[in-house]
Amino acid sequence: MAEIRLENVRKVFDRKVVAVDGVSLMVKDQEFTVLLGPSGCGKTTLLRCVAGLEQVDGGRIFIGGRDVTFLPPRQRHIAMVFQSYAVFPHLTVFENIAFGLRMQRQPEAAIRQRVQEAAELLHIADLLERYPSQLSGGQRQRVAVARAIAVHPEVLLMDEPLSNLDALLRLEMRAELKRLLRDIHATTIYVTHDQVEALSLGDRIAVMRDGRILQYDTPLAVYDHPANTFVGGFIGNPPMNFLKGMLRHREDRLEVATSGGTLEVPEAMRSALLAQNRDDVIIGVRAENIEPQTQEAPNTLRGTVLVVEPLGSHNLLTVRVGEEHVKVSTSADFRPRSGETLWLRVHPDKLRWFDPETGQAIRGE
Ligand code: ATP
Repeated sequence: MAEIRLENVRKVFDRKVVAVDGVSLMVKDQEFTVLLGPSGCGKTTLLRCVAGLEQVDGGRIFIGGRDVTFLPPRQRHIAMVFQSYAVFPHLTVFENIAFGLRMQRQPEAAIRQRVQEAAELLHIADLLERYPSQLSGGQRQRVAVARAIAVHPEVLLMDEPLSNLDALLRLEMRAELKRLLRDIHATTIYVTHDQVEALSLGDRIAVMRDGRILQYDTPLAVYDHPANTFVGGFIGNPPMNFLKGMLRHREDRLEVATSGGTLEVPEAMRSALLAQNRDDVIIGVRAENIEPQTQEAPNTLRGTVLVVEPLGSHNLLTVRVGEEHVKVSTSADFRPRSGETLWLRVHPDKLRWFDPETGQAIRGE
């Protein structure tokens, strides 16, 4: 069992830069957790604390139940790949990948097999005899990843390991890495600022901002039920749409009025919204959960098409609704003209609700 448990971890640089601000996190055995967040939010620092490359200023770190908070990196029994993919310049690619296996005194046949397997996975099997100076940056980075996975570690820490690869190779490597890590049953923490990578790779994603974790959940939950407007706006391409709304009672129903029209509030949200004791609210909706119609209809938002972006598999519309802009994803054959009026239907269950002051999600029953 190699779960990773962080308890209230803090790291402060120069007595004033709070890079990690009381992070608690439990990565279960064999789980793949992605740390995701904007530049400077503390992802790399947190990973370096887990690796033992930074001393924490508070809190505890447990790996496989063992308190490793004050242990040096080599006693933590982890493999790591960092952005500065240091490979040994005087060793061939083969020997670089074999390095950890030789340290473990594995038999020669096992070393050959593991090196081959890791090299094939990372598409560098034809480079085994070369030296690092004869490789491109992307190839060197793949040698570093191969070296880390060849030892079949129980715990693997990776910081943007695919950052130097071109888009196509990155896409391919992403899927293969996911399969391999599942096969070798490694518990993994993976840092990226690429949210597509995070959504596709992670069993769970920890979304960070300003040294804290804002949400730790499955990719689907983070995408579909963001804990706050920051997460909704950070995850997804395009980001979640947000509109200002005012709650009002009409007969025995609750409605939300926006600058583009009025929508019914689903029954399941009613008591949670009324408990807020305020009338203003922010509603959120994803581009693909909006259905544009060319005919006026009740319970829709009226908007004007500003831009139509044909993206091959679908079209992305920018629609002005009152003073706000809303992104709408449509089928590839729906191509309204710019300036055209549309009525946007949103499925009530796909509406998300947020407190306008704190940005925190308001959840229904
Ligand atoms: P990026 O995606 O740009 O790599 P990140 O989320 O990994 O960003 P960190 O590198 O962990 O962010 O940095 C977190 C904060 O700590 C930043 O404000 C950074 O400037 C600061 N910081 C990081 N390392 C040091 C250091 N050695 N000395 C002082 N400040 C540091």
